[in-house]
Amino acid sequence: MTLLLSQVRDQARRRPAGYFGEVVGSGVVVGDRLVLSDAAARRLFQKYNPNGEGGMPDSLKEPTLVGMLEDFVAATKIWAAAGFPVCTKAQIEARVGSCNNCDKWDAKARLGLGLCSACGCTLIKRWLATEKCPLGKWSV
Ligand code: SF4
Repeated sequence: MTLLLSQVRDQARRRPAGYFGEVVGSGVVVGDRLVLSDAAARRLFQKYNPNGEGGMPDSLKEPTLVGMLEDFVAATKIWAAAGFPVCTKAQIEARVGSCNNCDKWDAKARLGLGLCSACGCTLIKRWLATEKCPLGKWSV
């Protein structure tokens, strides 16, 4: 998902202090736009619209194939902008452990790469230090 920074600034006037920094910090700025993965956009929407004010945009409700591809592209841009940081072995093991105990994780999907039904990610996401669990279940 791509947003104009001016839209985020407008929203920030009606949101708690720290909103602008959190939203911008969840994506990557390209010119006058902010690129957010769908998972990050869903997390922010749920945090700042706990009563579903205005309804969640359809594009953020369930991961679709196109949405997952856009997420992958956005995640890669964020990862590249941060300098391609990779998790340590201990961090990867902790993330894998969280996913293996999560009801959103299907380890057999995608020819063994696995699939998270909350964000559409695979095992690969666990290696990227810039990625987060959309439900906040990762400790690292
Ligand atoms: S990324 Fe989060 S929500 Fe998805 S399977 Fe892992 S722990 Fe569950």
